[in-house]
Amino acid sequence: MLSVMPPVLKSMVSVAYVRNIDTARSFFELLGFRQHSAGEAETSAWVVLSHGQYLILLATAQPAFELPRLPLLFYFFYDDLNAALRRLESAGIEVTRLGHAPHALGGEARIIDPDGNTILLGQRERTAAQPAGGEDQESRFSLLREAATAVAASGGAPSTCQVTDPQGQPCPQAAEVRLADSAGATVWACIGHADEVLLTVTGAFVADEGSDGIHGFLASRR
Ligand SMILES: [Zn+2]
Repeated sequence: MLSVMPPVLKSMVSVAYVRNIDTARSFFELLGFRQHSAGEAETSAWVVLSHGQYLILLATAQPAFELPRLPLLFYFFYDDLNAALRRLESAGIEVTRLGHAPHALGGEARIIDPDGNTILLGQRERTAAQPAGGEDQESRFSLLREAATAVAASGGAPSTCQVTDPQGQPCPQAAEVRLADSAGATVWACIGHADEVLLTVTGAFVADEGSDGIHGFLASRR
């Protein structure tokens, strides 16, 4: 067993191999990174990007090697997730909002980088400006994931998200769950909007796709 203290780590650089270094640099600049240094050799090119103390080295190799599309390349936590997402969306990057996971009470979203890798963005804590959710957030999130899985298993949602944003713009995300209220209104929603509706609308609930409901009950009467 080691009895001496481990050496102090001063910095860490994450390395990502990319197909096109300029495309990748532009993409990471949208996430707030800036070029720190760059270099080129006969068989490789690289650029170091920095964002505060965080460093990413993007590299290409010649001849290029097979780059698998990774299910998760980076997870970045932001102070203000919505500001980060607006910046991406205004540059035409498709953003999928994933609701409020326990590790991202301020919200979580998924984007795909130019090489097809998944990158997750999150905000650790809810801010005062965001609706209160407290302890319910964790259970609401797992309820929505469970419902989305059930919907996907039975063939998926029949429409895109039917919730519009505060400016009336349609949501471009795929619907993943159906919500209902006691008055009988229903809406198909993406996870992010479903989360918002459950949080905001008193009496809204996740519609159970596996149940025959009242129709089934009445049918059984005959
Ligand atoms: Zn939506």
